[in-house]
Amino acid sequence: MIIVLKPTTTPEQLAVFSDKLKTDYDVRINRWDGVHSTVLGLIGDTTQVDIEYIEAQDIVESVKRVQEPYKKANRKFHPENTAIKISDTVTIGDGSLHIMAGPCSVESEQQIVGIAKSVQRSGATLLRGGAFKPRTSPYAFQGLKAEGLDLLKIARKATGLPIVTEIMRVSHIDMFENVDIIQVGARNMQNFELLKELGKTNKPILLKRGLSATIEEWLMSAEYIMAGGNDKVMLCERGIRTYETFTRNTLDIAAIPVIKKLSHLPVIIDPSHAAGKSWLVEPLAMAAVAAGADGLIIEVHNDPPHAWSDGAQSLTPAQFDSVAHKLFSLKKALSE
Ligand code: PEP
Ligand code: MN
Repeated sequence: MIIVLKPTTTPEQLAVFSDKLKTDYDVRINRWDGVHSTVLGLIGDTTQVDIEYIEAQDIVESVKRVQEPYKKANRKFHPENTAIKISDTVTIGDGSLHIMAGPCSVESEQQIVGIAKSVQRSGATLLRGGAFKPRTSPYAFQGLKAEGLDLLKIARKATGLPIVTEIMRVSHIDMFENVDIIQVGARNMQNFELLKELGKTNKPILLKRGLSATIEEWLMSAEYIMAGGNDKVMLCERGIRTYETFTRNTLDIAAIPVIKKLSHLPVIIDPSHAAGKSWLVEPLAMAAVAAGADGLIIEVHNDPPHAWSDGAQSLTPAQFDSVAHKLFSLKKALSE
């Protein structure tokens, strides 16, 4: 961290400020005395330094971080990729490609078990399905809630597929004990109380990127979970808000190599929520695999026109079968 001091700073003020930084943050300080101003370089772990506190000091002209404010999610401190074991046969982040597939919302036993069996035949290795749904309208279907979780477990029993489903509040954590991957939705990416509590569990977490979150904000949210002791975080890019309205969101493909450079955590791409249109799912998913994603989460519905949520972006089982085959072929070609 680099701190530029105002030219009016007295030697006494400088001494008091430097001592405070050293004792509060356990950093070493390099000092350069220029003609017009003095510059301090803080050396050591500056992740805990409160930049707003520094900026608020009378003698400070400006502050700049040269090191990222996240540590546990940072590749600099953990050079090798993190691989997260979900079940005996599914490890995400080990170089293999995993597809989580299933409906936006769990609707009935017949629906979820039927979709689970068909996506499994097409190569999906995890089952997705929303039981608690964050909907833009309070009048829209809000999910089957606890019953939805029970139906997901029935589908898991029928297929052996681990289940991925979204949590919306802290008080539900116990209810999610038996879920294989807990999804934190885009709208909850900065629900810091929820993130902190999930950090106390040892559940794999699929952390979706907020609608307007920067990559650094997203990594700081991962850091919240990891700071509590839970290292099993997967980052899911699902499209961000831009001025474009043709697509539901704009898929930030660059986030894949950027996250891979900055962090060791696995990256999952959700082309369905990015696209908002089923015909766009295949090209976006192919681009994601080509760019190095560790996995995909794709919405599949047995009857999209009658889906209780997100029908327009859902693939039919037959469409998913075709897309999945292309994705695995592309992955194979890239590995050769
Ligand atoms: C979902 O996965 O169905 C969902 C609501 O996703 P997001 O949080 O990315 O909007
Ligand atoms: Mn959805």
